[in-house]
Amino acid sequence: MPLPLTPRHHVRRRRAAAALFACAASLSLLSASAPAVPLGIGDRLFPHLGNPGYDVLSYDLALTYSGRNDQPLQAVTTLNARITAGLERINLDFSHGTVRSVEVDGRPAAFTGAGEDLVITPGDGLRAGDLSRITVRHTSDPVAGDREGGWVRTADGLALANQADAAHLVFPCNDHPSDKAMFTFRVTAPEGHTVVANGLPDGVEHTGGATTWTYRTRHPMATELAQVSVGRSTVVHRTGPHGLPLRDVVPARHRAKAEPWLARTADQISWMEEKAGRFPFATYGMLLADASTGFALETQTLSLFEREMFTDPALPAWYVESIMVHELAHQWFGNSVSPRTWSDLWLNEGHATWYEALYAEEKGGGSLEARMKAAYRASDGRRAAGGPPAAPEPPEPGRKTGIFRPNVYAGGALVLYALREEIGRTAFERLERAWVTRHRDGTAGTSDFVRLASETAGRDLTGFLHPWLYGATTPPMPGHPEWKTAARDAPPARRPVPHAHRAGVSRE
Ligand SMILES: [Zn+2]
Repeated sequence: MPLPLTPRHHVRRRRAAAALFACAASLSLLSASAPAVPLGIGDRLFPHLGNPGYDVLSYDLALTYSGRNDQPLQAVTTLNARITAGLERINLDFSHGTVRSVEVDGRPAAFTGAGEDLVITPGDGLRAGDLSRITVRHTSDPVAGDREGGWVRTADGLALANQADAAHLVFPCNDHPSDKAMFTFRVTAPEGHTVVANGLPDGVEHTGGATTWTYRTRHPMATELAQVSVGRSTVVHRTGPHGLPLRDVVPARHRAKAEPWLARTADQISWMEEKAGRFPFATYGMLLADASTGFALETQTLSLFEREMFTDPALPAWYVESIMVHELAHQWFGNSVSPRTWSDLWLNEGHATWYEALYAEEKGGGSLEARMKAAYRASDGRRAAGGPPAAPEPPEPGRKTGIFRPNVYAGGALVLYALREEIGRTAFERLERAWVTRHRDGTAGTSDFVRLASETAGRDLTGFLHPWLYGATTPPMPGHPEWKTAARDAPPARRPVPHAHRAGVSRE
């Protein structure tokens, strides 16, 4: 789910990096004399995200929180990477903090900034097949510059919201969902604070008024799905289906009001498991952030929500629960199976919206068919405004989360509905399970989905699905020849969706 973003100025870090570059350079010979340039892996929507030549296997993030969320955290990010091509330099994505030093395999390395990249020149070049360890000492600044995303400052601390391209505002990384890795978080905070991050706890250590909390993921994760919550929170534990440990993170003073909602998660997981198979991770829970984010976000094993959603009595129960299910469904669709490129975002949001709508239907929130009919009506206008579901238009400059348009949410769900109408419910349900089983802990794209759909249905569905995924106009809906799209001049979906759940309900 999106954050409205604006371009960031890099002046501060560039200056700092340049100053430090001078002293680091004396420690290592610079073999590459050409100017450092920002690199990317060629994502058509975010050309500078990710970097070529290596595959990160694991991240270790050590963060020290001062107790104030308007001050930079001191940070050490260590990453282990397999080098996949000969490199004289290694680029990481990082653009909002001061870098103090960089080591490659234990030796000081020169570094500088270029665009949103930290460009590192080790003393010796790196060869394909090498395993390399890179350690960056830096700050991580929760005060957003001109751009939002990354740290979210809450009433009592911090949380993270990195999707789609903001993890590298927080820590140096290969910031693209196609490079998943294992994560360890070691976060030190003053007594009185509670820290929770993705994955399972792996120790708590008290030293002189501060506590260091360690968490480890048990499954690979994309950088955009990292979560670190620091606050005056209560952690509520319970047990989910087949012994799955659940833990919710709630501002201590709101615990009682939130409790009836938190208690629903276990049944929602069972409901999703009937549809998609076993929950894909080792734990789950909700993080209720005391902040006005305007969105919810499926951070892996610990989904982020606005606290207010659970303390505002005006919201109908079916609605709140269907948003909980939207983020829960992402744990299968989007997290365990990550998009290969950001153009594959409809596979995340289409599926999450699909299960959100199915759940809402069961809870009195209106029928799936009515919702799909409304989405069909809006579809041509949305395609004209933001591109078809699987080939969304690039974000407008300064509004990178402009890719989170209704056409990947309701529009993506509409593709799934059309497919179900075409191949029948039984084959469709088999496909859904096969998708998350085959690509579990991996990345997959639209062509993989078309292939698996064809395999499952026993016939080539390319000719059927491509117009739905890539067409400028909406094909006829199988089984509903009477469905019509509104005229092209109907209200378009130019505006980024501020809130998947608000969009889902109020616009459809
Ligand atoms: Zn979503």
